[in-house]
Amino acid sequence: MSEQDTYPQGPRTTPTRLRERAGYAVDAVHAVLDEGLICHVGVVVDGEPVVLPTIHARVGRTLYLHTSTGSRLTRLAADGGVPVCVTVTLLDGLVLARSQFHHSMNYRSVVVRGRAELVTDPAEKSAALTAVVDHVVPGRADGSRPGDAKELAATAVLRIALEEASLKQRSGPPSDDDEDLALPYWAGVIPVALGFGPPRPATDLADGVVLPGHVAGYTRGTADFGSASPPRVE
Ligand SMILES: Cc1cc2nc3c(=O)[nH]c(=O)nc-3n(C[C@H](O)[C@H](O)[C@H](O)COP(=O)(O)OP(=O)(O)OC[C@H]3O[C@@H](n4cnc5c(N)ncnc54)[C@H](O)[C@@H]3O)c2cc1C
Repeated sequence: MSEQDTYPQGPRTTPTRLRERAGYAVDAVHAVLDEGLICHVGVVVDGEPVVLPTIHARVGRTLYLHTSTGSRLTRLAADGGVPVCVTVTLLDGLVLARSQFHHSMNYRSVVVRGRAELVTDPAEKSAALTAVVDHVVPGRADGSRPGDAKELAATAVLRIALEEASLKQRSGPPSDDDEDLALPYWAGVIPVALGFGPPRPATDLADGVVLPGHVAGYTRGTADFGSASPPRVE
């Protein structure tokens, strides 16, 4: 794999525990960033850490965060940039082992270390906001009104260059100790996926507005629950 294909692995992006679950492949890191609807942004404010959820979008090797112009994070970013740690977590399964100790979760998670800077260039800001809207619902930017001057003034976009990122993941069955395998407890995995219901149109839709394809066919992720054998409930 070339440097182009992997994020560099350094002390700041190497887990202390279970390093074998970590990876740095650019495509795999980006896939998690793109599938996750939201991220969590960690930042130190007045010497104390705070972690806030927000919406993000990736454009190439740049991660954009959607914030408000009045938020503390925005003010810190506007003041020459601020170090942040951004995480995106996808939950794939609940892992139930015979022993409580080996209960776990199947997941894919990405940690991005970097510096958040305020986007001030109007063209970059506009493109980033389009990317944020399309990140949540692909095709939605073309299916909605763009922000006007007042709305854009109230919205801030932060830029983080994707230079340090790690992926960690777990998959597969529980890993019970051999001496526990004969215990009379059920063990296995409950698969998890994000679910979406049928779209509910606004009651005040203008006449003639039909359900667009990007809404009707909305799905996210690669949920494959397979064909488990019929459950035996006792
Ligand atoms: C859904 C879910 C549930 C989890 N449950 C637990 C739990 O109950 N107990 C527990 O100990 N751990 C849990 N983890 C794993 C946890 O996120 C850490 O990886 C783990 O605590 C080991 O931290 P560390 O000290 O090795 O990381 P550190 O050494 O502090 O991390 C150093 C660097 O390693 C990378 N890194 C560490 N963890 C991750 C990660 N998860 N994803 C991507 N990069 C990472 C980052 O770049 C980070 O900056 C869970 C993870 C997920 C996604």
